Amino acid sequence: MRLSSRVEKIKPSETLAITAKANALRAQGRDVIGFAAGEPDFDTPVNIKNAAIKAIEEGFTKYTPVGGTDELKDAIAAKFKRDNDLEYKRSQIVVSCGAKHTLYNLAQVLFDAGDEVIIPAPYWVSYPDIVVLAGGRPVIINTQEKDGFKMKPEQLKAALTKHTRAIIINSPSNPTGAAYSQEELKAIAAVLLDKDIFIISDDIYEKIFYANFPFINIAACEPKLKDRTIVVNGVSKTYAMTGWRIGYAAGPEEIVAAINKIQSQNTSNPASIAQKAAVEALSGDQNIVDKMVSEFQRRKDYIVDALEQIPGVNCFSPEGAFYVFPNVSNIYGRSYKGRKITNSTELIDYLLDEANVAAVPGVAFGSDDHIRLSYATSLKNIEEGVKRIKDAVSKLE
Ligand code: PMP
Ligand code: GLU
Repeated sequence: MRLSSRVEKIKPSETLAITAKANALRAQGRDVIGFAAGEPDFDTPVNIKNAAIKAIEEGFTKYTPVGGTDELKDAIAAKFKRDNDLEYKRSQIVVSCGAKHTLYNLAQVLFDAGDEVIIPAPYWVSYPDIVVLAGGRPVIINTQEKDGFKMKPEQLKAALTKHTRAIIINSPSNPTGAAYSQEELKAIAAVLLDKDIFIISDDIYEKIFYANFPFINIAACEPKLKDRTIVVNGVSKTYAMTGWRIGYAAGPEEIVAAINKIQSQNTSNPASIAQKAAVEALSGDQNIVDKMVSEFQRRKDYIVDALEQIPGVNCFSPEGAFYVFPNVSNIYGRSYKGRKITNSTELIDYLLDEANVAAVPGVAFGSDDHIRLSYATSLKNIEEGVKRIKDAVSKLE
């Protein structure tokens, strides 16, 4: 069958594919420990669920304005003011069906054939394909583990060309957990000040933050860049609301209007009920977030330490998000029963077959020396899963 050249240029999301594979194996009775899914294991908090139930009971079940209700836009504007010291009008905010949809819409309104989009690696698996689907060309900057997986201003300077249209900054990062400090962002901002390019700041892990400095985004750090920055965020990770599909962007009015136009021809509004839930998430009790984050931090401390104790594994300590991205390249070249492990994909397949552990190969995020494990699962699972990895790795010689 002939499919469009557009779809032939991309791959399916590897994080979702491996999560589905692990679920299918479990359904067949295999006791698989899942470190693949990038979603909180906590239930959506009860006040948020109740807001949705109330919405249904009150009949708030019809189309809303394409880009979200005024009530939700006001809650988002209040969140930006409260948390980020950024001011936006309703006309500068648009709500979509998850931050992935927001990023997709943004790429569709910004990029044309030949436009280059700078993506620091390791990157979230979907960025390059979202850019390619819009006709743009991803330009990858390889950050170094010794630099804390952060892009250096010199690297950024060297990647800029007359075709550069935008850069994507994701702090804290999926998959490394690296987060930029104010000084580091200022240095990046200094390179961008006199360049006519857009900055896409994906702040989805903003609240899942452990560093000893506060979270800040580039528009707050350098107000002169605010007119060219589009901040992307959502409720999926902070409020354990992955299934509700609410993401949003704030930025220049013209871009927001263009996203509204695109969205009016694809999904129309995000679910009315989920929008009511998102209002409660953003405006209700925020202590629930602290509780989830302290549990993530406990697990992070455990998993980093436990992975470090596996000979051949080195684990960068994340400053945010809920992933670890251990360097496993010292294991490459070893074999078990004639099966040689030479890259991250082969290691992940081996761990699934021999240890019943599901994780994601680093190559999906632009680094074949690493694998990604999500610790958004119970400490009990983490203990057992890491033990299994250790046993499987020790069999390799
Ligand atoms: N950005 C990053 C870095 C992510 O990890 C995710 C989660 N898949 C998203 C955006 C999209 O999140 P959602 O569509 O669930 O809002
Ligand atoms: N962001 C999550 C992850 O990276 C969810 C899956 C996805 O949307 O890719 O695993």
